[in-house]
Amino acid sequence: MANNTFIVDCPICKAKVAAEEAGRAERSYFDDEAGEPVGRRLYVGKCPRCSTMIAGTSHQTGFENYDSEYDQWSDVVRVYPQPPKTFASYRIPNTVKQSLLEGDKSIQAGASMAACVMFGRALEAVCRDILLDSKEKTTKRMMLGEGIKELKAKNVIDQRLFDWSQQLQAFRNIAAHPEGTPISREDAEDLQVFVHAIIEYIYDLADRYEEFKQRQIARKRPRVSAAEMFGSIKPKESK
Ligand SMILES: [Zn+2]
Repeated sequence: MANNTFIVDCPICKAKVAAEEAGRAERSYFDDEAGEPVGRRLYVGKCPRCSTMIAGTSHQTGFENYDSEYDQWSDVVRVYPQPPKTFASYRIPNTVKQSLLEGDKSIQAGASMAACVMFGRALEAVCRDILLDSKEKTTKRMMLGEGIKELKAKNVIDQRLFDWSQQLQAFRNIAAHPEGTPISREDAEDLQVFVHAIIEYIYDLADRYEEFKQRQIARKRPRVSAAEMFGSIKPKESK
């Protein structure tokens, strides 16, 4: 068998490499609900430069004899090591999650500027979600800079997260303007860590602390006897 390779981002080499394929799982089926075929691949292999073990996924974008002349597959997105970040809180809006995912893909594709735009978009969506009520969300615009200041003023974020947010805004602005200077992968990766930390703090940690507090309260509540709860039953007086 000829040695197959797949192009994937190596997080150690910080570059696209042709990983030596050691194995592959593939699944194709027709999704009745969506009314279209689905094809997925999971690759495992090693980086030819640093020997890091890497796993990546790809999905089919074109199907022979269905919508395309031949089968076509998307770029491979790395899922190991350093899989895309996941969050526990159900309160995080979809726009935030999608922007983060797009940002991660952009870094893997070597598009640091696009990644910064996505991280700024994620933070902007957080500002809207936290600061605007449901009616305002459909009508009011919220600029990123204004949102960050308000998060700080309302004590949703502390000084350090505020500083990180301002860096995110600055890089988002550089990335969004055509005359802006290029952004390095290192910077984009740092900003990714910052935006993850901010979102984790605002949603996941807040949820977790709330659950913790509820348990404390439940524990402190004095045990109530059945008699107290249903009205006391007086024992018969004995003479
Ligand atoms: Zn490598």
